[in-house]
Amino acid sequence: MKATMLYGPRDVRFEEREDPKIIQPTDAIIRISATCVCGSDLWPYRGINPITQPTPMGHEYCGIVEEVGSAVKTVKPGQFVIGSFFASDNTCPHCQAGYQTSCQHKEFISAAQAPIMRVPLVDGTLVATPDVPSGDFIPSLLAVSDVLGTGWFAAAAANVKPGKTVAVVGDGAVGLLGILSAKQMGAERIIAMSRHASRQKLAREFGATDIVTERGNEGVERIKELTKGIGVDSMLECVGTQQSMMQAIHSTRPGGYVGYVGVPHGVELNDEELFFTHVHLHGGPAPVRRFLPKLIDLVLNGKINPGRVFDLTLPLAQVAEGYRAMDERRAIKTLLRP
Ligand SMILES: [Zn+2]
Repeated sequence: MKATMLYGPRDVRFEEREDPKIIQPTDAIIRISATCVCGSDLWPYRGINPITQPTPMGHEYCGIVEEVGSAVKTVKPGQFVIGSFFASDNTCPHCQAGYQTSCQHKEFISAAQAPIMRVPLVDGTLVATPDVPSGDFIPSLLAVSDVLGTGWFAAAAANVKPGKTVAVVGDGAVGLLGILSAKQMGAERIIAMSRHASRQKLAREFGATDIVTERGNEGVERIKELTKGIGVDSMLECVGTQQSMMQAIHSTRPGGYVGYVGVPHGVELNDEELFFTHVHLHGGPAPVRRFLPKLIDLVLNGKINPGRVFDLTLPLAQVAEGYRAMDERRAIKTLLRP
């Protein structure tokens, strides 16, 4: 098969690779219906996370089971399945507590930008839909695999509840779906921080009630103005830089919550500054597996359409252009079809 490899900064190749095979009896092989490029793929693509050897890419996927190992009990060939970026057993103490991305047996998935992939720990990792869904559902079901699951975790970690005031830093796909998640959880007011017209439009479609275009301290001041000087109850941090993290913490009211899911790059928190803010901080790699059944259900019942974040669809063979378009911010998120 031909699949995606990253060789170094801005060097994505679609090249011949060995077909994946069952290795452990708990594995499955799935034929990918759709995959995509993640915002976090841009860190190694831009050379910020160094690449030391040619690396298979991709961790968002959904597709049809082709083959299962002898120990697999919960899925069978022909079923449509969705998984997340960490395989997990879903039985260990951390999984039971709902933190499958800290599973004692976790394995990172990184070969999904391909026509076929191997998934380990299948019984704990994959969730099958009741029937094979029609093609219209594929973008939204793919979004559940990571980008929606991550936005949903940001909102859950930020303790979003009915009637609350919420703000979201980051207008990438995760931030936009954090808005959708906050809306689903009953937030009354949702402030999106964005300075791009097309993203502001989608933010409003997903439930944003206010837009703030300022950043840094000016962004904090604007949020304070909008909340009578108090700050928001819940803040979703979906970027991972020093500026975005401080913007999030300082925009939150004393006793409020910051849910952070932007992979941090160079964030340093000042102890005294943090001490006096009285803010709850919770985040990390989203335990998407916890939310998969609920989110799949919301999509199949037509309650949400998170696939709207894909504004570019390409054949998998053009994966390099998919990365370029996101790197240059010409696309919010690229969907790839094998
Ligand atoms: Zn586990």
